[in-house]
Amino acid sequence: MTTVDLPLLPLGRGVDLSAERGVECPGDLPPASDPDLVERARAAKAALGDRVFVLGHHYQRDEVIEFADVTGDSFKLAKDAAARPEAEFIVFCGVHFMAESADILTGPEQQVVLPDLAAGCSMADMARLTQVEDAWDALADAGVGDAVVPVTYMNSSADIKAFCGRNGGVVCTSSNAETALEWAFAQKPPAGPDGTGGGKVLFFPDQHLGRNTAVLKLGMSLDDCVVWDPRLPQGGLSTEQLRDARMILWKGHCSVHGRFSAEVVDSLRATVPDVKILVHPECTHDVVLKADLVGSTEFIIDTVRAAPAGSSWAIGTELNLVKRLAREHPEQTIAFLDKTVCYCSTMNRIDLPHLVWALESLVAGTVVNRIDVDDATERDALVALRRMLDLPGRTAQD
Ligand code: SF4
Repeated sequence: MTTVDLPLLPLGRGVDLSAERGVECPGDLPPASDPDLVERARAAKAALGDRVFVLGHHYQRDEVIEFADVTGDSFKLAKDAAARPEAEFIVFCGVHFMAESADILTGPEQQVVLPDLAAGCSMADMARLTQVEDAWDALADAGVGDAVVPVTYMNSSADIKAFCGRNGGVVCTSSNAETALEWAFAQKPPAGPDGTGGGKVLFFPDQHLGRNTAVLKLGMSLDDCVVWDPRLPQGGLSTEQLRDARMILWKGHCSVHGRFSAEVVDSLRATVPDVKILVHPECTHDVVLKADLVGSTEFIIDTVRAAPAGSSWAIGTELNLVKRLAREHPEQTIAFLDKTVCYCSTMNRIDLPHLVWALESLVAGTVVNRIDVDDATERDALVALRRMLDLPGRTAQD
């Protein structure tokens, strides 16, 4: 019988530390069955004291969140880390692009650790720098390059943020995408009276956030949006389509939020009276159209916290967060929007054994799994991040 050597990591066994694909962890992890894991994590954190600051993204497992000094979305966490310059080590319980952002926003003496390097983000991985640079050149060849402003979602690698910094673009979050798009369009002359000309946005990596924001917040039509497929010549689009488009959406999506379906929303409404559908804008446009409320992770949390007892919700975001909200609010009925959608597999790679291993290594004087963005990338990415910080309004995301 022939055996096939299937890779075990869902995103591949890359060796490029700067890629969202991640790599295998080199260390000796404690077994998940070790009954002392909780005690070991506690002891290691106590031994490190103020030298370590543990960040926990909302989508992390409970066993990890328990040891987080602060929880939040990725941008809030990066800012929290920057506000703790006395912390020598930032242990980021989240995914790779988040740890990169924390490294960019923290001081050079602070070291950012990602407990499992295989914790990447499949969405961020859908826009690689070489693909984006090829697209940029193709847009110039098609004669529309001068009209385009690049806008990247926070959920992208540091080199994509740096690309935006170098090319007059900006980073956005799911809370400020509308403001970021308005800023981007304002960078170019407006369209003429006949509707021709005017600026365009190349939005990556999440087509759904781009489309939902352009149509529902900026009042564009679906015809104003085209999808750029990086695997096809000129993105699979004609020069005329590119000339007419206002939003050029990268063909990327979140492998969790992209799986919720409009059919499930319909059947829930038919079977659960008074249920309110609350979803993240990374969901597809047809799901968002059928939802009662749409917003970032922080918006979802705030909405549930402010809701009266007896409220009934079906929530379309990552399962760890929905389960936590349901536990924290027994006075409400809180359900996950779709029973066939699973956890974010890469977020879930950060578990207690990896956290214990990372913390105990720090106690022993070894920094494992350090995320260190190179100086040139950091400098350019900061340009795009600062443009975002200068936008008015909230900046919570993911
Ligand atoms: S939930 Fe989606 S966007 Fe967030 S880390 Fe997972 S794959 Fe990436």
